[in-house]
Amino acid sequence: MITRRDFLKLAGMLPLSIAAPKLVSSLPPLQTGKQQNVIIIVFDALSAYNISLYGYERETTPNLARLADRAIVYHKHYAGGNFTTPGTASLLTGTLPWTHRAFSVNEEVDDAYVDKNVFSAFHNYHRLAYTHNPLVSTLLRHFGGDIDDHIRRNTLFLKHDFIIPTIFKKDEDVAFIGWLRAMRSKEDGYAYSLFLSRLVEQYDRQLEAKLKSLKQIYPRGVPKQSAGNYFLLETAIDWFNEKASSLPQPFLSYLHFFPPHDPYRTHHDFHGQYKNDGWNPVPKEKDVLLFGTKNYFRKHIIKERRHYDEFILYVDREFGKLFDNLERLRLLDNTWVILTSDHGEMFERGVLGHRTPLLYEPVIRIPLMIFEPGRKTRLDIHTSTSAVDLLPTLLHVTDQQPVNWTEGRVLPPFSNATRKPSRNIYVLEARNNSKYAPFTEATTVLVKGNYKLMYFFGYEELGSEGERIELYDLGKDPEELNDLSLIKRETTAELLNELKGKLAEVNEPYQ
Ligand SMILES: [Zn+2]
Repeated sequence: MITRRDFLKLAGMLPLSIAAPKLVSSLPPLQTGKQQNVIIIVFDALSAYNISLYGYERETTPNLARLADRAIVYHKHYAGGNFTTPGTASLLTGTLPWTHRAFSVNEEVDDAYVDKNVFSAFHNYHRLAYTHNPLVSTLLRHFGGDIDDHIRRNTLFLKHDFIIPTIFKKDEDVAFIGWLRAMRSKEDGYAYSLFLSRLVEQYDRQLEAKLKSLKQIYPRGVPKQSAGNYFLLETAIDWFNEKASSLPQPFLSYLHFFPPHDPYRTHHDFHGQYKNDGWNPVPKEKDVLLFGTKNYFRKHIIKERRHYDEFILYVDREFGKLFDNLERLRLLDNTWVILTSDHGEMFERGVLGHRTPLLYEPVIRIPLMIFEPGRKTRLDIHTSTSAVDLLPTLLHVTDQQPVNWTEGRVLPPFSNATRKPSRNIYVLEARNNSKYAPFTEATTVLVKGNYKLMYFFGYEELGSEGERIELYDLGKDPEELNDLSLIKRETTAELLNELKGKLAEVNEPYQ
């Protein structure tokens, strides 16, 4: 078969009129820089609010600031929801939670979206996925048919790479199979149980020793996802650094790392960085809507916020390492690198974390940075954008077939469509609702221009009125301190009407 290079060589030697008509049909596809690789990096629960690149007073992201000089930086980017399941599902399917239906904890998307997601859309790519987060694992498993290489979650946990090489000095693979078999068939007999219990005992002792030895590097404890599931972010970063050079191209890599999700256990290099720095966040009144969770004292929240901010410093450094390595590997010339999150985190109004019916900015505004191959200058985008926009944008910039199911739009500056300031951005929190029924207890947000309408309904705490409405002008009041719903009544009514119309529309199929 004639290669493109052969063709060009040949064409150069012949008059174009003779060469072109005869050979054009056997010409290999044109490599115009399209079919470029894509790496999506999600740091779980990374709020845009706490990122210095977006104006946070603490200098939490020196590496993002350094790398922003060659990125497109989105300043008003919203998650689809306020925790992992809806947020990640929106990012991966390009649809909002009321469409993909994964709005409860650890829910899967509607079966209609099993083959409508970023992995199926990039069907001609080599698709790799890894996450520390079990809720993301649930989604990835559901999409599994379209993922070529879904790395098991515990592959990069401390447990896994520690126990096998330690207990079984040789034959790691065989040992691992034996280990799994022992775990699964422990009820089969006394001998197995005895073997297992000795193994587990030994393992526990050694893990404990390992954790103890790491105590100096992680003064607040070794980062963990849940009980027993310890990990080091460095392990995941180093693993991908090694993996990246050997991936078949074009590839799509989805990496969803757990930090800076709680518990906030930073590296000792950043431990205590903001202690006594004198900075105090804007005081905000405690909210009555708490989902039955604890109403935390301000002092405790301030301390946890400091730990979170120090954890972000660590995330920022590791991202910098990963990025620099991609540059060394010369992958940045033909790879789109995306940095984003699945939702934010809250340290105000008596709320700590993201288990909340509230949708204030810290819990729904997330970072988005797009590193375009070859870009040397920074571009700041201040129009409101949504997590659902990422899928259509990536398809657009890599010259893939667009899909007809997404609720997102191609992001600026890649979209040719004229900017519409009236674009509606929606966010939904509905974790206590049935998957296939109209919403009865939820919080919804409509962001339009500088206005943000928040509509709560169905919560017990709201009493007989059953609903609560707030309006903020984010341009003048980014901290959301002045509810304008009773002052700007016309705007409120207009937006509420639009939001209720949308709710009626999405509830319709389930009536
Ligand atoms: Zn999350």
